[in-house]
Amino acid sequence: MDWFRRMMPGRRGIDGLGWALLAGAAVSMALRRATGYRLFWTLAFVLLAVFFLRFFSRDAGRRYEENRRFMALWRPLARRFSSWADALRDARAHRRFRCPSCGQKVRVPRGKGKICITCPRCRAEFVRRT
Ligand SMILES: [Zn+2]
Repeated sequence: MDWFRRMMPGRRGIDGLGWALLAGAAVSMALRRATGYRLFWTLAFVLLAVFFLRFFSRDAGRRYEENRRFMALWRPLARRFSSWADALRDARAHRRFRCPSCGQKVRVPRGKGKICITCPRCRAEFVRRT
């Protein structure tokens, strides 16, 4: 997005809240197209208006404070999202089996064919298709 930053005669570039407003406007426009609700078009317009008002504002101190408050709300959410994404990636890349002798859950990479798994707890060996 370097071209965008260069093109905009902004005073400080785009902060986290600014990107969130842009993303929100883009999502609203996509929803407007997908659902046909005019409300989403209005929402996109409002988000863009707030974005540009902030972008061309001279009051950097207040904009900084807004962004700080927004990021304080956003960071814990973002962390939760990324841990969900990690869990999903992990579930796609691995299979879980239960050791037949002690019940220990064992995680092995997917797609390795038939492999012999050694239980990390009781050392029992069992063959599974991954
Ligand atoms: Zn075991």
